[in-house]
Amino acid sequence: VVVALLGVWKAGGAYVFVDPSYPVERVGVVLAEAGPVCVVTSGGLAGGLPGGLGVPVVCVDDPGMESAPVVASVVGAGPGVAAYVMFTSGSSGVPKGVVVSQGAVVGLVAALGPVLGAGPGVGVLQFASFGFDGSVLDVAVVLASGGRLVVASEAERADVGLLADLVVREGVEVASVVPSLLGVVDPAGVPGLGRVLVGGELLSAEVAGVWADGRVLVNTYGPTEATVMVTAGQVAGHVVGVPSVGGPVANARLYVLDRFLEPVPPGVAGELYVAGVQLARGYHQRPDLTGERFVACPFGGAGERMYRTGDLARWTADGQLMFVGRADDQVKVRGFRVEPAEVEAVLAAHPGVGQVVVVAREDVPGDKRLVAYVVPESDAVLGDGLRIFAAERLPEYMVPSAVVVLDRLPLSVNGKLDRAALPAPEYSSAGGRGPATVAEELVCQVFADVLGVERVGVEQDFFELGGHSLLAMRLVSRLRVVFGVEVSVRALFEVSTPAGLAARVAGADAARVGLTRWERPERVPLSFAQRRLWFLAQLEGPSATYNIPIALRLEGALDVPALGAAFGDVLERHEVLRTVFPVVDGEPYQQVLTAGELGDVLRVARVAEGEVADLVMEETGHRFDLGVEVPLRALLVGIDEDVHVLVVVVHHVAGDGWSMGPLSRDISVAYAARCDGHAPGWEPLPVQYADYTLWQRELLGDEGDPDSVLAGQVGFWREALDGAPQELALPCDRPRPAMASHQGHTVALEVPAEVHAQLAALARERGVTLFMVVQAALALVLSRLGAGEDIPVGTAVAGRTDQALDDLVGFFVNTLVLRTDVSGDPTFGELLERVRETSLAALEHQEVPFERLVEVLAPDRSLARHPLFQVMLTLQNNAEPSIELGGVRAVSVPFGQVASRFDMNLTLRETTIDGRPGGLRGSVTGSVDLFDGVSVEVFAERLVRV
Ligand code: AMP
Repeated sequence: VVVALLGVWKAGGAYVFVDPSYPVERVGVVLAEAGPVCVVTSGGLAGGLPGGLGVPVVCVDDPGMESAPVVASVVGAGPGVAAYVMFTSGSSGVPKGVVVSQGAVVGLVAALGPVLGAGPGVGVLQFASFGFDGSVLDVAVVLASGGRLVVASEAERADVGLLADLVVREGVEVASVVPSLLGVVDPAGVPGLGRVLVGGELLSAEVAGVWADGRVLVNTYGPTEATVMVTAGQVAGHVVGVPSVGGPVANARLYVLDRFLEPVPPGVAGELYVAGVQLARGYHQRPDLTGERFVACPFGGAGERMYRTGDLARWTADGQLMFVGRADDQVKVRGFRVEPAEVEAVLAAHPGVGQVVVVAREDVPGDKRLVAYVVPESDAVLGDGLRIFAAERLPEYMVPSAVVVLDRLPLSVNGKLDRAALPAPEYSSAGGRGPATVAEELVCQVFADVLGVERVGVEQDFFELGGHSLLAMRLVSRLRVVFGVEVSVRALFEVSTPAGLAARVAGADAARVGLTRWERPERVPLSFAQRRLWFLAQLEGPSATYNIPIALRLEGALDVPALGAAFGDVLERHEVLRTVFPVVDGEPYQQVLTAGELGDVLRVARVAEGEVADLVMEETGHRFDLGVEVPLRALLVGIDEDVHVLVVVVHHVAGDGWSMGPLSRDISVAYAARCDGHAPGWEPLPVQYADYTLWQRELLGDEGDPDSVLAGQVGFWREALDGAPQELALPCDRPRPAMASHQGHTVALEVPAEVHAQLAALARERGVTLFMVVQAALALVLSRLGAGEDIPVGTAVAGRTDQALDDLVGFFVNTLVLRTDVSGDPTFGELLERVRETSLAALEHQEVPFERLVEVLAPDRSLARHPLFQVMLTLQNNAEPSIELGGVRAVSVPFGQVASRFDMNLTLRETTIDGRPGGLRGSVTGSVDLFDGVSVEVFAERLVRV
């Protein structure tokens, strides 16, 4: 590119610079107006230009520079001869061409050479696209002073990570860019960059503060009409407030004038005018516009002109210029100059548009976006079509981030558009399904953080939410930090939803076997998880340890026969609830009973109020004999005509926490149908638990096969858990008995709403999940209480990795061991990073059943403690299940001591108030074998304090 340009330059040619993102047809219009000049473009555009324009084209890949003589012959050389025509947004609806003379470019080189600090050998970044005059500063000034131009490729211009690599690799010392770009680059990543010029838009105090520290930061100002830059001033290392744009450069004179063209005193804002050799010749073939903007200069010699910038500015007492704003509607969006009227003109050409107004809004500080407000033509429907229409006709930065459809435009009392009354666009209608995996949850958080919104749904589109090229860069670099993987900006354009990106970062295996109905063998084996429970039942004898109980007090007119029939329907629907596990040759298998073999599922009893509690205890403490008994029991205790207590107990072998949702829903649906006198009209389930069992074996493969998923994952865990403590040293009140009693003390755990909100914000900021924050806090507390520096904690993952499992009752939940390294006195931020890393790795290997890991990694069985970890942490984010029985009021009944399979078991649930964090609620259950009740309370308090 540079070679071609330089050749043309030397030959004294003229150029039209074209932003390659301008669609070809539109360039055609521009060129037809521009007349016979040359085109330099950085894209593949040149080849695709419409023919017959009579325009000699200099292609960037013209290594022989064969076109250079053509250029030279088109126009001669001389200070008054055009050097280039640069097109910029025009309020009349088409871009206007600024014709800049060769003399003005020579003036720029002379005045800005010293400011840029280019010299022989100095590496200067060429970042600006050739469609913008910033590129002239780089090319002309650097090459004229013998410097070295390091040209960023299109990919490097779109991805700050690649850009930083280029800067480091090529030893770039100087760069001239827009402040928006600096806002997304990490200064630590470009240590050698010692001098930075910024300009083109307002430099905020924040960005200035970050970049003026330890390097030379120069703020500059100038319009295309005065050849790139006419002021410059170094920003002091210690930034207080918005910096000035400095003072006039050597070849420029600046005036701040009132409406009578009289200078205003320092401190008073007026309109800014520029005079000097850098002034453009005018607008190409627009004498009207040229006359309006390039006016006679009352302060110069005869015939001298000055350019009316439309900017408002004031002088400081020490001769620096402060940028105040615009006198008209022109805006800068990410450094790009935009006349909203041009966008309006394009949108107005859409047949469905009646009225249209385009404004730049800054609803999130530092992120200015174009928003179009449209009143449709009579009954036209304007969907996404309008943005697509705009995207086909305008460069990316001029396409509105949002289109807001209004019934009418808001007007003030005197009939003018009331801009303040234009509503902020709604980007997030965070509908659709919630995140199903941690990767999805994290990507949603990164989206929300980058877009500056509270929540983003998994299926929402980054660009529809107002994402643009700069935010895309920020998103990509956040994903790099959070997942430690490279996601290209290109990938973001291909899949722009959290769901799609999560699949990419997690390297989802598309070729996975899908879950469908399977051919049943004579005996269906148990799933891995079931097999472990069955094994424990053999080891420990029947017990209530794995019961999942629900107890509800029901007040109101209950249709008892309908409820009984509903339970029959639910067992009919879910095979797993009518499965028993007989043994043949020492191996258990799943035997599904028919509804006829079952009899009535719901048992009904009548007792006095005083005896209810005991009965509930007895029922929830039932010891299932899995060989002959179905794993669901339901008892309805009548106390009064209109008062009942319903106790449902599901053995873990046939259910898990997540199953309670579909189970409750199905009971509710069936009851409603039975009350109406018919069977529920639901669609049969796509698969049953036995299908899952067979699928799981197929998916995981044979552990003996080294290429199987199972073997791979077991290998991962062997390494991940190598050397982990077999038993965590907890601050116990008494020694551990030889055999655990599985009794627990339960105390409430409550994190207040404002802390919850801050935890969520911290999670977003750090690119971790809320769970990871809680996990880090827990590891910290345990460590400080003497558990050492290597803290394994168990957690549950839903295990419903296929959509077909969504509505199924069954035991899918799997247990993962998350090991936190608390050594080396890390900050909490560092701890969060460690937690994220181990958690993500663990989640990628979540398929191997915990029970299998136990067999492989902890072969010495102890009845005293839980294998591999003793502290369990669960954060429930699924909706709390509820059984709806017509007009009957249902309230949960407490059912005494909870079985505790762990030394310490923490469960928390996120609550919300109006969609905002409403606090974390849950409990800590400490083993009675080890702790006094009060110790569990103290532990809970400490965790909440941390
Ligand atoms: P352009 O022709 O694209 O260079 O845009 C010129 C316009 O950008 C000026 O008229 C100003 O409105 C704005 N501008 C340029 N430099 C600065 C700056 N340092 N601070 C604030 N606004 C600036």
